[in-house]
Amino acid sequence: MNQGFKSDLAAPEQRSVVQKLNHPTFNKYSVEVYIKRDDLIHPVISGNKWRKLKYNLNQVAKNKTIISFGGSYSNHIHALAFACQEKGLNSVGIIRGEASNADNFTLSCARKWGMDLVFVDRKTYRERSHLSFHKKLQTQYPDGVIIPEGGSNKQALLGVAEIIDEAKQQVAFDTVLTPIGSGGTLAGLALGTRGINKVIGISVLKGANYLQEEVKSLLAQHQYSENNWHIEHDYHCGGYAKFKQEHLDEILQIQQELDIPLEPVYSGKMFRALLKMLEAGRFESGSNILLIHTGGLQGLHGMVDRKLLKASDWQLPRF
Ligand SMILES: *Cc1c(COP(=O)(O)O)cnc(C)c1O
Repeated sequence: MNQGFKSDLAAPEQRSVVQKLNHPTFNKYSVEVYIKRDDLIHPVISGNKWRKLKYNLNQVAKNKTIISFGGSYSNHIHALAFACQEKGLNSVGIIRGEASNADNFTLSCARKWGMDLVFVDRKTYRERSHLSFHKKLQTQYPDGVIIPEGGSNKQALLGVAEIIDEAKQQVAFDTVLTPIGSGGTLAGLALGTRGINKVIGISVLKGANYLQEEVKSLLAQHQYSENNWHIEHDYHCGGYAKFKQEHLDEILQIQQELDIPLEPVYSGKMFRALLKMLEAGRFESGSNILLIHTGGLQGLHGMVDRKLLKASDWQLPRF
């Protein structure tokens, strides 16, 4: 039995729902579109971050210290802080930027859930994957377990792959669509398909050609070399966390038409990309497309506070 949210990270029976979506453009191009609502998988630990943390944290003994990295508005930092509190782990967030950001929505949640924040300048932050930096952290936190930025590592792929295992029992699909940042989610989904379905990642970063190698090397850690996945680079809307008013208008219209809560950094760009790709004839009629809602709605708060978005347009989560 599920014992409530306390056991969610450990509960193998935990699933997110799949919903069928209706939209005139889907009818026009004769495709069926479904969405796996990983934004609903946990009230706080949202979407793909829940999936990526699952096996990373299940292996760690109580009272250890998890160390990870992120920006001031990071979904990963937000999710990690709560997950560590639930699991009885200490957490340290190495944050890129100014300590004056410590009171923003994302980081005040993280602090409330017990995370220690360490602010570093951009130059130091660039060393977040360097062995020398990790050694320094390991000296500072002898019981520390380091998880990379975004949580994307070998263990993360196993959790993400379960999205596909679950979805196969819920609906028939041939193509999977996901937004991608670091590539861990795309890699995990590809792994989950075992080479059978096509997986398309919509890059939310501009000119991120390195992602190809990143995804390949994550998959190589699981001896996976199938080529049933690829990355679309034309739907970033200007770059990471960037967008113009016209993009926002499109995303808000989609949100209203589908009645699914979106944000403009990941899910909004994925939905916009789907419509553009349909209009460009990129999907055969009769395709069954499964979208992954990777969550990340907490990030809306930071964008509203910075006046990039109007609060009343979006569904801001409360914790
Ligand atoms: C982190 C994140 C992504 C990107 O996932 P990667 O595994 O880094 O590619 C996508 N969507 C949301 C909402 C995220 O928070």
